[in-house]
Parts: sequence; structure tokens; C-alpha cells
Amino acid sequence: MDPKDIRPKIKETTNYITNEPVEPEKVSSKAKIGRSIVVLIGEIIGFLLIAHANVGLVVTSWETAVVAVIALAIINALIWPLLTRLFLPFLVYTIGIGTLIMDGLLIYLLSLFTPGLTIEGPALILAPLGMALITTILSAVLTLDSESSYYRTVTRDLIKKRHPTTKTYPGIIILEIDGLAKEIFEEAMKKGYMPTLSKWVKRGSHTVTEWETDLSSQTGASQAGILHGNNENITAFRWVEKEHNNQIVTSTGFSDAPMIEKRISDGNGLLVDDGASRSNLFSGDTDDVVLTFSKIKNLKKFYNTTWYYLFANPNRFPSIIILFFWEMILEIISQITHWLRNVQPRIRRGLTFIPTRAGANVLMREITTETIMGDMLVGDIDITYATYLGYDEIAHHTGIRDNDSFKCLKQLDKQFNRLEKASEYADRPYKFVIQSDHGQGNGATFKQRYGISFENYVRSLLPEDMTLYSNMDSNENYSKMFSPFKGARDSIKNGIDNITDRTEDVLEYVTNEKVFRTENKKPEESEVIVLASGNLAMVYLTQFKERLSYEKIKNLFPNLIPGLVKQEGIGFIMVDSEEFGPMAIGANGVYYLNEDEIEGENPLEVFGENAPQHLRRSNSFKYTPDILVNSFYDPETEEICAFEELVGSHGGIGGTQSKPFMLHPVEWDVPTPLISAENVYKVLKSEILKYRNSENITKNLNHGK
Ligand SMILES: [Zn+2]
Repeated sequence: MDPKDIRPKIKETTNYITNEPVEPEKVSSKAKIGRSIVVLIGEIIGFLLIAHANVGLVVTSWETAVVAVIALAIINALIWPLLTRLFLPFLVYTIGIGTLIMDGLLIYLLSLFTPGLTIEGPALILAPLGMALITTILSAVLTLDSESSYYRTVTRDLIKKRHPTTKTYPGIIILEIDGLAKEIFEEAMKKGYMPTLSKWVKRGSHTVTEWETDLSSQTGASQAGILHGNNENITAFRWVEKEHNNQIVTSTGFSDAPMIEKRISDGNGLLVDDGASRSNLFSGDTDDVVLTFSKIKNLKKFYNTTWYYLFANPNRFPSIIILFFWEMILEIISQITHWLRNVQPRIRRGLTFIPTRAGANVLMREITTETIMGDMLVGDIDITYATYLGYDEIAHHTGIRDNDSFKCLKQLDKQFNRLEKASEYADRPYKFVIQSDHGQGNGATFKQRYGISFENYVRSLLPEDMTLYSNMDSNENYSKMFSPFKGARDSIKNGIDNITDRTEDVLEYVTNEKVFRTENKKPEESEVIVLASGNLAMVYLTQFKERLSYEKIKNLFPNLIPGLVKQEGIGFIMVDSEEFGPMAIGANGVYYLNEDEIEGENPLEVFGENAPQHLRRSNSFKYTPDILVNSFYDPETEEICAFEELVGSHGGIGGTQSKPFMLHPVEWDVPTPLISAENVYKVLKSEILKYRNSENITKNLNHGK
């Protein structure tokens, strides 16, 4: 017997606004028909209401509305999946807006044959959107099977006709929740926000393993490690390349991501053989990409037949648009209630965050889930890596344990439920892995605590006539672009050759030096660049081609190092000494990283036992700043402080930001402790190889019979 025949064909039965599971046996066919009639009546009333709104739809009688709505339902059921096949490139390149246009044109065609019905102008878009609004609300209220088993079956049959699958070994689907620390993940499961995932743990199919990020706890470094097995030289979210005319490189930049991928890729990425990348920063060396930053500028690669599944159901994309607007309303309500309740710490989220949140949390989420569902039905892809950005985005602005953040996790859990259910329609088994790329830490920002921004503080420690450029916004909304600067000041450059020998101890110097502050200067063309990456900041002295040594910084800018380490908000800084090698310096002690020797108090005490190892590695990177700065970490309150204006942040070291998780099948070999993104790559790579080999062994055995 073919194994696929015994796999239960469970109907997808979740409502996708409330997303509450609808048990199939509890919904009788009588009730189903009843609800469908209610939806139909609702749509007829809606159609008349839209006509009433005078936007270009004219319906002369209610009988006409009845005929039109029923005729549309029949047209959609019979020819929509075929139309989608024909016009898929158009639908993809118009990012779904084409669905509304196609919908409007269908009503227009219908109007040619229906007396009393005309449509023109804005109604061509507004009528389909209005109908989607009504259907979406009614489906939510009536807890209907929104995935529509009808379209699912039609789509599956169409897909299968074109792609007969032969693979029988499991495919791996890795779903990344951006920015979720293991601690918060377990809390969310305990509090009931993630019932699907806690079910996987309880039934014993999955287990949670913590892993530890590299020093730069952010998506750029982590996804480079996970998807390409190499995150060398990815110092932070954003860095300066002195050798390239002080160019600032941003790991999430559309123009920089392809260049970074070229540097880190050896052609053997995680997704190189039959892999798929969905909503990631890097491609993992596959060409099968959807919304992947490193390839997003390549318009040819933007189109991918995997979009078919999303568009084959005529109601799906219009509903996503409705959900998108709903999420914007939720964000507005959230901003007001946070302000009324005076939630602390709190930042100004601003107007641009409203669509940013809806885009990251709803639009990309739904597209990602839908395309993976389509992939599973095709069955060719062995390994999929997909990112869900919503939690990271929301937690940055509201906090890692905020109600909004937990609700976002609840919505994500429902995606996993949908995907698990959809996998039961597929012809081959799938193994799910849910993991994160880094965590986040919480706390009031540097500016909120000390009344001065970090860049202004640095400026106050430098000679008055030096110019400073800063970009402290490392949040992934890409709103600020860098402005290049030039200029070198010979007087200071000459100073480098005349270093006066001051032979005092490092600790003596940083603790005894009286810090002299200068007035703030305008940040025009700069000789200092300060960049932030959560609670990690980088100071680049850009008049100098090489990384400046501790001794040179001390001689040229005597205030700088003592001024930094004595500031309360700073946990430690890392500089490279000609005499002692790399050193982590705190207010009351020095850690000599090469010898693992400590003088005074250990500045790395609270940052975890692997902190020296992470710092040594970062120190060896090509674009390490002259001074690397990390905020304090308070192990009691678990607080850090960001150098940018975000409540939840990550990028440096200290606490939950460096402690993501992997929820994986129990039978997998996952070493503990699992340190560094590059080792996560190794685990995933070896597991997919095992599955592939198991098929080869089975084939060989059968061959030998
Ligand atoms: Zn982030």
C-alpha cells in the first residue's frame, strides 16, 4: 500500500483571523451549508452597500446583486485557479494588487452580460476590496474554514499534475522567529501563547536546546553563520571599512547584502541542494528565493512559481490586505494605551512604525506561510529556511515581554499550526524546526538614563574641532541612509609619529585620568564615526587608515578611553594594545584577553564564561572598530541599555540577547553547549544529509533484492 494512502487527509480547519482551530467533526455539513448561506447573504448586502457608496459600482436592484454575487462565486471556483496560472507573473510583480485588478475585471466582464450591473473607475479596486472585508469579517465571526478546502484541493491537484514527487525521505522546514530569546520563548509556552509548539514538546516529538550567538547578536551575523557557515568579519549590524574609503556597510542593506553574501559564501550554503529561502537576509546559496535580501534586487529572481499557492485562492490576498490594515489599527490603539498607562520604559514609536509593523508582522508573515504551504505540496524542496520578522520588530518598540510581543507570538504559533496541518496534505513527510537567530534584552536607553546621546557623549571627550558622524539607528526599518564624509586632519596624523612615552599602567591611566569635556560640535563632515547596534557601539577614528592601538588612542585622545569606561552606562570597552594585545577595560579593571589575566575587578564577570572567547574572535576581524563599546548588563534586573532609541535591543553581549533557541526533533544530534551560528549550520547540514542518505540506503537495499 502506498504510504500516502494511509496518511490521514485532515482538512485545514482554522479560522485565520481568530485562527482558533475548528474541529472538523464538530462542524456538521448542515451547519457548514448554513454558514455559507450567511456569508452569501452578507456578500449580497455588502455588494449593495458598495453600490450605495457611489464609487463607480451601479446595481439597479437587489435581484441583480443576488445574480452577480452567485455568478462571481461560480466564476471564481471554476476559472480562478487557471487564470492565476496564466497571469502569475503579473500577480507577483504587482505584489498581489493584481489580484484586486483581476477581480475587478471579472466583475466588469460579468457586467457586460448582466443587465442592471455596471462598474467603472475606483470601484474596479474598491468593490473587490470591500467584498474581501465582508468575507474576512464574516469568516472570523462564524469561525469558518478560511483556508477553503475547495481551493486547497484544486490547487494541490494542479500542482501535482505538473510536479509528480518521488521523494519519500523527510524534508526539513526551519522557521526562524527573529529576535526571540529562549527564556521568553519558554515563558510564552508556559503562559499559553504558543499552544502548538508546547504540544510538540509535550507529545515528545520536539525538544528545546539553547544556543549562544557570537558577539554580534544580530541577524546579519547569525544568518550568515546559519545559512553559509561563515560569519567572519561581520562585526556588528553596521560597520566602517577604513580600507574602502571609510565606507559604511549595513548587513541588511539591499545594496550591501549581496556583497556580503559574496564574501561569506563558499558555494556550500545550507540551502544549496534543493533548498528554499523565504524572507531571509542571505540565500544560503539557493536560487529558489522569495523576499530574500541578498537577491531582492534581481528582478528575475523575484518571480518564483511558489507564489502560485498564495494567489490560487481568490480570497487570500485581499484578506491579507484587510489584515494588514487591521494590524495598523491595532498599532495605533497600542501606542495610545501604552501612553495612557504610562508603560515604562517607553519610546516614541512614531507614524512610520505603523505600516512597518503591519508589513513585517502581517504581510511578510502571511506570504511566508503561504509559499511554504505551496512548497510542501510540490514536495521537491529538501530544506526550507524562513524568517518571521514580526516579534523582533514589535519587541524593539514595546519591550520583550510586552503584551503586543506575546500576542505576536500567539499569531506566529497559529502559522505553525497551519503549516503542520498543511503538511498532512503533502506526499512526503516534513520535519519542523522552530528557532531564533538571537534574543533581545530590555531596558531604558542610554539617552533616557543619562540625558545625553552616546554620540554626543563621545563628542564631548574629543578635541573641539573634530567632526563626528553617527548612525545610531540599527533597527531593521532601514530608514536612515549613510552620508559619506571625507577629510583628514594632518595635525593629529602627525601626532602619531610623536607618541610621548607614558609608561603608567592601563588601570592607573583609566582610573586616574581627569576627563576634560569639550562643547558639542555639529556633526558635519566627520573624523569620527560612531555606530550603534543595540547595546554595542563602535567608535571609528577615521582619519587613520589602520585600526588605532590603545597606546595611540591614549596619546592622541587622552580623554577618550577613561571617559568611556567611567561612564555608568558602559560595561566595558575593547581596544587593541601594541604591548598587551586585546584588552577589555571596565571602570575598575582590565581583562587581558590573550593571557586571560585580570587586573583589578573583572570587567567581563557578568557577561558569561564565553565572553573572552567571543571578544578575541571579534578583535581578529577585519573591520573591528578602534574602540568597541558594550553597555552594562545587570544580572539581577536582566537590563541592558541601548545606544539607540529602542526598548528591546540586541547586537552586543549580556543576558538574553545572546541566548536564542532551537526547537528540533528529539532524535537529532544537537551538541550542548551549542556556541556560535556557524555550529548551528553544521547541525542542520548534517541532519539533512542523514535524511538523504537514509533514502539512498533504502534504494540500495531495494535494488539488492
Ligand atoms: Zn532586531
